Amino acid sequence: MFNEERRFEQPIRWGMVGGGRGSQIGYAHRSAAHRDGLFKLVAGAFDLDADRCREFGVNLGLDADRCYSNYKEFFAAESKRPDGIQAVSVATPNSTHYEICKAALDVGLHIVCEKPLTFTSEEAEELKAIAAEKNCVIGVMYGYSGFPMVHQAREMVERGDLGEIRVVNMQFAHGFHNEEYELNDPGLKWRVSPAASGPTYVLGDIGTHAYYLCEVMTGLEIDRLACMRQSFIASRQPLEDNAHVMMEFKGGAVGTLWASAVNAGSMHEQRIRIVGSKASIEWWDEHPNQLRYEVQGEAPRVLDRGMGYLYQDVEGVAANRIGGGHAEGFFESWANLYHRFALAFDAADRDDQETLNSIWFPGVDAGIEGVRLCEKCVESADQGAAWVAYND
Ligand code: NAD
Repeated sequence: MFNEERRFEQPIRWGMVGGGRGSQIGYAHRSAAHRDGLFKLVAGAFDLDADRCREFGVNLGLDADRCYSNYKEFFAAESKRPDGIQAVSVATPNSTHYEICKAALDVGLHIVCEKPLTFTSEEAEELKAIAAEKNCVIGVMYGYSGFPMVHQAREMVERGDLGEIRVVNMQFAHGFHNEEYELNDPGLKWRVSPAASGPTYVLGDIGTHAYYLCEVMTGLEIDRLACMRQSFIASRQPLEDNAHVMMEFKGGAVGTLWASAVNAGSMHEQRIRIVGSKASIEWWDEHPNQLRYEVQGEAPRVLDRGMGYLYQDVEGVAANRIGGGHAEGFFESWANLYHRFALAFDAADRDDQETLNSIWFPGVDAGIEGVRLCEKCVESADQGAAWVAYND
């Protein structure tokens, strides 16, 4: 069971770019980072608007002179201070991730970056190379991967409880953007603009989350894929508000991914079903404390978080903050990830490669993979949903 006992002497001095007042995801970062006392927010460039940034930062308890008007000024000033930040989270629109991460690495900062990490896999690979050179760690905020039952699923696949994996069904298909809400919603407006969002909308915005769950739970690698994408709100073209992807994995398993923002009436519908030769499991992010386990010929079971029959020896499964039966949720999953990011950053700073290698977290490779998925889906869709090789 996690508690907030100190894992190291002082919390990591931490800052944020983006995530300002009114942003969708800024609070989730701050809440998760602060949960176990391993990070302390000391500075930020939270907003495009300098006055609003300062006022917001001061209201968060920061010194006004550590609320900066842009990330360049932020990194330059903090890197000159003896008590300057050691790590930064990047929670800005997608178009800015690459340049902000690159600038952060230049001054030796560890990073937690939002997904999709960059627009192109070349950019993501470049960040990986610079991070390695600078001994910096990059975490990518695939926030659903911190749930204990996701790790139980991973272990069940790994230990053969399902038999040989045959089919993976993934979806993240909500209905919140079934009409042209971007006319009055700046957070949606940038998501449907290629200049700010990148080559995709729903594939990068939510499809990458569902696909990352598949990566975590199964370790399967795509051999080739075919993607059909379209926009039911015409003004969103060339970006898609709905996409279907078929995948063939190396080794013979197959998969599908449905990413959509026009699934009218649906709240989230992020589900993953993994079908093996003996049994299947299914996980749904709206009920993250449960994992459905169906063995062919037996009554279906619902496994619950925090129970003794789970794989207790697995750190991710044991990452509970309260006993079973109490509902843990989104913020706990994020806090579990920030906890690991902190341990990884600390291990890197101590040059403790062994510890660093032993900590599981969504890192730069996960970021690269998400970007590659988007690229390959666009390549396929542009050719009329043709099958395209994944790693050429
Ligand atoms: P948003 O539009 O709601 O908020 C963006 C914030 O960043 C605003 O405060 C804005 O003023 C600020 N900002 C924009 N450009 C900036 C810059 N150059 N410098 C400093 N601040 C800047 O966006 P959002 O929904 O919070 O999304 C931000 C990022 O988080 C996106 O990459 C998105 O894909 C990702 N996201 C991830 C999850 C998740 O579950 N991991 C959920 C939502 C959003």
